[in-house]
Amino acid sequence: MKNIIINFLVLLILFLIMAGFFSLFNLPTEKAKEIGITEFISYLKNKEIKEIFVEENKINLITKEGKKFFFFKEEKETLQNLLNYYNVPPEITEEVSIFVKPVAKQNIFLQVIVPVILPLLLIIGFIYLFTRQLRGGAQEAFRFGESKAREIRPGEKPRVTFKDVAGVKEAKEELKEIVEFLKNPKKFTALGAKIPKGVLLLGMPGTGKTLLARAVAGEANVPFFHISGSEFVEMFVGVGASRVRDLFQRAKKNLPCIVFIDELDAVGRMRGAGLGGGHDEREQTLNQILVEMDGFEPNIGLVVMAASNRPDILDPALLRPGRFDRRIILDMPDVKDREEILKIHSRGKPLAKNVSLRKIAERTPGFSGADLANLMNEAAILAARRGKSKIYEKEILESIEKVLLGPERKSHILSEKERKVIAYHEAGHALVAHFLPHCDPVQKVSIIPRGLAAGYTIKMPEKERYLKFKSEFLDNLTSTLGGYAAEEEIFGEITTGAANDLKLATEMAKKLVTEFGMSEVLGPRTFGERHELIFLGREIAEQRDYSEKTAEFIDQEISKFINSCYQKAKEIIKSKREYLEKIAQKLLEKETLERDEFLKIFN
Ligand code: ADP
Ligand code: MG
Ligand code: ZN
Repeated sequence: MKNIIINFLVLLILFLIMAGFFSLFNLPTEKAKEIGITEFISYLKNKEIKEIFVEENKINLITKEGKKFFFFKEEKETLQNLLNYYNVPPEITEEVSIFVKPVAKQNIFLQVIVPVILPLLLIIGFIYLFTRQLRGGAQEAFRFGESKAREIRPGEKPRVTFKDVAGVKEAKEELKEIVEFLKNPKKFTALGAKIPKGVLLLGMPGTGKTLLARAVAGEANVPFFHISGSEFVEMFVGVGASRVRDLFQRAKKNLPCIVFIDELDAVGRMRGAGLGGGHDEREQTLNQILVEMDGFEPNIGLVVMAASNRPDILDPALLRPGRFDRRIILDMPDVKDREEILKIHSRGKPLAKNVSLRKIAERTPGFSGADLANLMNEAAILAARRGKSKIYEKEILESIEKVLLGPERKSHILSEKERKVIAYHEAGHALVAHFLPHCDPVQKVSIIPRGLAAGYTIKMPEKERYLKFKSEFLDNLTSTLGGYAAEEEIFGEITTGAANDLKLATEMAKKLVTEFGMSEVLGPRTFGERHELIFLGREIAEQRDYSEKTAEFIDQEISKFINSCYQKAKEIIKSKREYLEKIAQKLLEKETLERDEFLKIFN
């Protein structure tokens, strides 16, 4: 559309220039006056004429005073005949300069081609351009309906197999069945077995859903049609649906194969669920997916895979038998898996001998596969920037923080006072954590700004565990408030630097009360219905299922937990103030304290 407008403007400007050009040529410089032949003769005889300019039948005159006249002679009459006829003596004509403009062919050019044909050509060109644009637009609109699915054929690209996916054992085990079927469908159909049409991969972002789907295609060595749910959603209603139709048509021509719809939640949201508004287009697309999935026989060799990290919002119709009835959950990797993933992503990256991937895996709880891949890449970049020929542990450890908290912002200039506040704040966190028996041990304290944080204290459990005890929860909550308590104790006032800690502490206390049943007053029940699955780890929508009165109790309990933890933090800060000072001094001096240096302070 923009192109059409630009073309139009260019043509318009060209047209105007041409028009101006012509009118300039035709512009009479000074209006000449028509006179009769007798008048001309009398001018001539009075010797008032300076120049005569013969332009075919038109005779132009310029008098000595500069006046301009013209008259027309007959077609066949020459000027000479005329002069003879009126008895003009030759002496008179001798004084006058006479020009005769040759009757040239260029006249045709000027009079016909330029004023008539050129504009015609312009107009034709104009129309041509316009129609081409329109036709192009129409073609594009036509192409809208085709799916944009990318196709990976066996043999193209480096093949991804299960070897490239670490961890997720159960998922791989389940998918092996699909691979078997795609490789040898007859074996299954002979026994009357029905293979699931749809497989839904569920898991947090970065757990390897997309990777695993590609690995299934790679293992089975079949074509892989890959499209993302968000690509279905277009401006025009009906486009998504026709893309789905096209996608399945293409797939059916390439059996056996896998159709993979990534980010299914973009189209597969519950219909009429308010979330995201009632989007007609999305519903049509979703309906089309359902129609297509119902429309093919189970054993033709087409397996539809989809991935989502929001299973809670998926339309139940998608999950019915015959559709995505096989659901596979990809967990966040545990220590062992993380080590495996690190191994995969250190392929082709020369590691120094003493690098222990196990140790790295231990220091990265909560990292997804994508985070770990990112970590190894960052470490390689860091090592290269430092001119090293191998990646040392140092680079990897430093990269952990970068992935966790964002890049260091060393250039951030802090005033001396700010630095001091930050040092005491972080020292507060670390000190409280150190003196609480159930708190995760401090790994590192730093006052180098990173990402959005002005400083940071990294605590990490020694071993990964699945259960958290109340005492641990409370101790971690206490240490979270350690920064706030230290600021108050040392400076007598609070800065905005503690805001994030307070938010975190409140969230922790709320979970303690409403989710884990750890409040004695409120007892063993949960409050509020959360629409989330455990592995999602974040709250999506909360529905109140308790009374106003209970709400008050909940608030009170949350405040009670926070306050008692705060008191505890303050006590520690007060009684161990000498250590607090020491940690803060060390931080101001060195900026970052590793675990060993931190522990030395207490000896
Ligand atoms: P998702 O689709 O679940 O968001 P991806 O499959 O796109 O995650 O994963 C992103 C990247 O993270 C992959 O390309 C891969 O490099 C890495 N990754 C994730 N999980 C694993 C895993 N289990 N094993 C190896 N690499 C992984
Ligand atoms: Mg993905
Ligand atoms: Zn803090």
